[in-house]
Amino acid sequence: MTVSRMSHLFLRTLREDPVDAEVPSHRLLVRAGYIRRAAPGIYSWLPLGLRVLGKIEAIIREEMNAIGAQEVSFPALLPREPYEATGRWTEYGDGIFRLQDRKGADYLLGPTHEEMFTLLVKDLYGSYKDLPLSLYQIQTKYRDEARPRAGLLRGREFIMKDSYSFDYTDEGLDKSYNAHREAYVRIFDRLGFEYVIVYAHAGAMGGSKSEEFLAKSAVGEDTYVECKSCGYAANVEAVKVVAPEPVGYDGLPAAHAEATPDTPTIDTLVAHLNEHFAREDRPWVGSDTLKNVLGVVTYPDGTKEPLAIGVPGDREVDAKRLEAALYPGEFEPMDEETLASFPDLVKGYIGPEVLGEESKSGIRFLVDPRVVEGTRWVTGANEPGKHIIDLVAGRDFTSDGVIEAAAVWPGDPCPNGDGILETERGMEMGHVFALGRKFADALGLQVLDENGKLVTVTMGSYGVGVTRAVAAVAEGTLDEIGLCWPRHVAPYDLHVVATGKDPAVHEAADRLVAELGEAGLDVLYDDRVKVSPGVKFKDAELIGVPTIVTVGRGLAEGTIEVKDRRTGERAAVAVDEAVAHLQQLVRD
Ligand code: ATP
Ligand code: MG
Repeated sequence: MTVSRMSHLFLRTLREDPVDAEVPSHRLLVRAGYIRRAAPGIYSWLPLGLRVLGKIEAIIREEMNAIGAQEVSFPALLPREPYEATGRWTEYGDGIFRLQDRKGADYLLGPTHEEMFTLLVKDLYGSYKDLPLSLYQIQTKYRDEARPRAGLLRGREFIMKDSYSFDYTDEGLDKSYNAHREAYVRIFDRLGFEYVIVYAHAGAMGGSKSEEFLAKSAVGEDTYVECKSCGYAANVEAVKVVAPEPVGYDGLPAAHAEATPDTPTIDTLVAHLNEHFAREDRPWVGSDTLKNVLGVVTYPDGTKEPLAIGVPGDREVDAKRLEAALYPGEFEPMDEETLASFPDLVKGYIGPEVLGEESKSGIRFLVDPRVVEGTRWVTGANEPGKHIIDLVAGRDFTSDGVIEAAAVWPGDPCPNGDGILETERGMEMGHVFALGRKFADALGLQVLDENGKLVTVTMGSYGVGVTRAVAAVAEGTLDEIGLCWPRHVAPYDLHVVATGKDPAVHEAADRLVAELGEAGLDVLYDDRVKVSPGVKFKDAELIGVPTIVTVGRGLAEGTIEVKDRRTGERAAVAVDEAVAHLQQLVRD
């Protein structure tokens, strides 16, 4: 139990929104005195903020301990070598903070700790009898995010709970993965925001299975799909397009190049096609066209590769899907100068004939999964003002592979059944990842199995964004007047306000607060004498403790007022019953 007097508490609430705050939780956490910005994406924690952070950490700790995971703590300042061994020193590119010591040795500020945990276990364990093992830490991470935003939601310094499991069989990994997944369900249930568990893109770290816990939130940066009929849910990056079966192309008309003047958009092109080159079976539609998007991929070691991506003309390339598909490469649209260095490419009329590793341009050509053998396309004819019609995949052109990059639309077929997909916004709060043997392989983590044979350990990695959770809970619960914490993460159980200057009121409030403290409750006590009741109530609403207790005018009738911050409901409670009443309220 803690009693904090506002006359002493290190707190200044602000009436004005901070200028850089884009989302309500960020605005309110700053205004209500929970955090202060130190640098872009880097925050200092004030007393109120630290209390909420501590409560969230405690919930996470309890649930991790409950599955038998053991807490450790690694430094943030890490040597380069282990990250070199796994390739991530390069792979991270600009995404990490690097530094050198006085001797010129390279270090980094850890963005995540797979390497360090792997090495620690290798250091100390050598037998299958030592496994399974799960270790975790709640620790500060550093990532030089391209776009730090929304306060704590995407920081450059942030706290993560990261755990790692170690098994020597695939079944063991399954078990550890499921234990973590279930612990996460309990953690996020207790934190009290609405979330979904979605399939995630497992490719980036070479793992086998990966799911994300997303808070449902309009301010989230993730888009996920959900199928209401089968329950399938996936991050948009992980959605596998439902491709048609390949079909024969006997009897399809031969490809023919045609003039298509004044058709700058897909719609105008489709209208032109229907007017002049009507199809025998049905009208042309936007998804009959194939758009070839050109770019340059930059890899972490600095090498660059031109790349062409063919997608149905009515769909955009989705930046996040593309990023996930090409990771760790980064795609940028091809600039005019680079384009000009390929004399066979006619801007706006690029067709598959000049694309592909075997073609004149030599540009690698990846296509949408819907471009299967036998599908008929309208695409650029590699001549200004002309398109080629009835270009058949497999007959007239081939690609160098498939890429999941086209936008996913609401109404697209569910990959899992006959339902359709809906799209929603979310924010990644947690991530469970069956990593497999990649890290153990790279760093040589092996144990002796039952037969005395050396086997490579298989790992899982599991993260929860702790500071992000503070913002996510705030974002999911606030209202138009301020923060509005759920009881189990609120900085205090009660916010007691003594109003007016009457010493009798303040004495009564002092007594009540002392008793509440003795009863084991955490109390924020507004004992400021020179501050008007209006300002005090505004502060209480802004700070968002779930129950606001006013000691003031009611005293004359022997009552205090108890107000629910969320519903605004007020009740007069007799002073002698106040402690019991409030204790009950907090417990429920
Ligand atoms: P994102 O896709 O949001 O960048 P990530 O997939 O890179 O996240 P992980 O490496 O899976 O993140 O990290 C585990 C958890 O750490 C995430 O689920 C998220 O809650 C949190 N996290 C990641 N990056 C940040 C950040 N920049 N600021 C705050 N929390 C973060
Ligand atoms: Mg993630």
